[in-house]
Amino acid sequence: MQQRSGGSLLVEIQPFLVITDQDYILLDSGLGYRNPDGVLQIHQHLINHGVNPMDITKVLMSHLHKDHSGGISTADPVTGQRNLSFPQATYYVNAQEMQYAFDNDGKSYHADDIRILRERDNVVFTEGDGSIDGYITYEVTGGHCPYHQTFLIDTGDDKIFFGGDEAPQISYMKRRFAAKYDYDGKRGMELREQFKERGIRDGWTFLYYHDTKVPFGKLTQ
Ligand SMILES: [Zn+2]
Repeated sequence: MQQRSGGSLLVEIQPFLVITDQDYILLDSGLGYRNPDGVLQIHQHLINHGVNPMDITKVLMSHLHKDHSGGISTADPVTGQRNLSFPQATYYVNAQEMQYAFDNDGKSYHADDIRILRERDNVVFTEGDGSIDGYITYEVTGGHCPYHQTFLIDTGDDKIFFGGDEAPQISYMKRRFAAKYDYDGKRGMELREQFKERGIRDGWTFLYYHDTKVPFGKLTQ
């Protein structure tokens, strides 16, 4: 999926689906765009791969910038009524990120897309670091935005790391630099060093949300 934002900057994005023995896990929810025929693009991608969107059991959100959270909910084109795009899933969102998104509604955040999270029961607002069902761990990182979180899914066979915008592209993992658009560029740089070290040591598969050329892979020295 692509989004043109301001000027001529083209943002390419891809949410991920991880299927484990017990879950269909979606990692970030995409832009929330519809196809010309009105079907949500992310729903169509899932259907094309034989997955019913109703089968998604968990939606793990790294943060709530609109290019990651636009697909959390969709408005009915006729009634305008908002519904969760994955009504059978439990959504995991950092509690402070939720508040921060409302306090900073406008440029990077779009409160209308995410307000529904406060009105539904199937949402877990995470605080700090923790774990989900004994095999998914999350850490608040705070480099890209103050309450950004990352996820590590340990299936027993594989360790799958979703760094969200702390590790958005493979090229970011290969050179040391502070990104201007990060909330805390120096912290972002240090986080990438740390993830790289842990990822090489423990054999993580990295998922890169903003890298459509190299969407995932393991890192080597
Ligand atoms: Zn992003």
